[in-house]
Amino acid sequence: MKYKCCNLIQHGLCFFEKDLVSCCFSPNDQVNGGHPPVIISPYKGESLSKEELFQKINDYVAIFKKGGCPKECLNCYHLEEKEWDETPFINSVTITHFSNCNANCIYCSNNLEQSERTNDTYEILPVLRSLKEQGIIKQGVELHIGGGEFTIYKECNQLLEEFALSGFAKVYIPTNAIKFSQELNSAIKNGAACIIVSLDSGSKKTYKKIKRVDAFDIVVKNLKIYASNGINQGEIALKYIVIPTINDNFGEFKKFLNTASEIGVKNIIIDLDAKYARELKHKVDSTLICLVQKFEKYSHKQGFSTETYSFFSQCLNTSDVKKNILFQLYDLLKYRYFNQTANNIYRNSVKMQKKC
Ligand code: SF4
Ligand code: SF4
Repeated sequence: MKYKCCNLIQHGLCFFEKDLVSCCFSPNDQVNGGHPPVIISPYKGESLSKEELFQKINDYVAIFKKGGCPKECLNCYHLEEKEWDETPFINSVTITHFSNCNANCIYCSNNLEQSERTNDTYEILPVLRSLKEQGIIKQGVELHIGGGEFTIYKECNQLLEEFALSGFAKVYIPTNAIKFSQELNSAIKNGAACIIVSLDSGSKKTYKKIKRVDAFDIVVKNLKIYASNGINQGEIALKYIVIPTINDNFGEFKKFLNTASEIGVKNIIIDLDAKYARELKHKVDSTLICLVQKFEKYSHKQGFSTETYSFFSQCLNTSDVKKNILFQLYDLLKYRYFNQTANNIYRNSVKMQKKC
């Protein structure tokens, strides 16, 4: 039977600090300040049986099967119509229940001015081990890391050993690379982990302004080690988040590309500071969009591959499409770094752009 639904509501788990939910992409959560699809709340790392886990999931699925849509999923771009596998299993786990970090980026949604960060949270390993033993998660599951800086999270090494290095899961990790992790290095080498590092600069001075720690040199050093192991260039991407008045200039971007070459990374992601875009209600100046296009063209000339995310939403004409694209881009910004959807959005968005 074909019906409109989403893989994450059927087969996704997202561990927040206080709740267990289906995903972290819900427009109801991200835009309206409501809740994502909740599976268990409050949740503090209790063990989960297949029955209790899928009771709520099945309630959501039943709504979709009747042609409806829970309010938590309204307007979400993840929805698609197809035949769904209703077997109770989980193929995507997101861990975002910790927030501690050894940087303090000015664009971070957890930054110190707004919230207290913590690593003092429940243990996720026993929960994942139990899901594995019950056959709820199987080999090939995607493990997406969110929250704070994973390399300083208390269960990082054990998680990488048991889930990435064992070949059980593919792990997608945003890291600032300030702390070198031998386990992460091995996981990259084995093709079991992909990392994305927002360097946002090509100089110590600009790096420090953005990340608010003096760590440019050590990050470059660590990235060189990670990159030297890369069995395939897709395992590592460097990101340049354009932050108006700080790094929105061609000179800094050129230095960034030089640094990427020095490190040995060929994948570049260019994005716009989401906090800035939200403050302006996404009415970003077209000169900024043109600048990013120039960055992209220049990167291609230098032999880099690029992905370009959120700023394209500014060029769209209709508010509905714009809103929808915004959700997609927010998703990509946070968690889908290696998803080809980014390229599709880019291609579709380009068609709608005004000429610079
Ligand atoms: S909010 Fe979107 S991604 Fe999350 S479960 Fe619903 S449809 Fe899927
Ligand atoms: S490295 Fe990531 S988690 Fe840490 S402050 Fe920067 S954006 Fe936030």
